[in-house]
Amino acid sequence: MRTAREIQQRLQGENDAFAIEVLRWVLDGGCPMCDHKSKKDYELGIMNEEFSATFLEVRHNWNEGTVMNHMDNHIEFDALEAKKHGKR
Ligand SMILES: [Zn+2]
Repeated sequence: MRTAREIQQRLQGENDAFAIEVLRWVLDGGCPMCDHKSKKDYELGIMNEEFSATFLEVRHNWNEGTVMNHMDNHIEFDALEAKKHGKR
């Protein structure tokens, strides 16, 4: 499987409009944080400021902005669960 970084590099050298569109679609479709088994813990950790977005991105070698994009666009916020975990 291609990494997002590889696809982005390809995009920069791509001139064909259709190819660019397809590559963009591939890029948008994949969120490593959504796919991660510890997603919920990470979401809560970010919300409770236990660690930063950058910390996760560096640790997993995700593209810059992956975590904030996830937090802004993909999160299913469960207030009850967040409270419970926050007291841990
Ligand atoms: Zn996501």
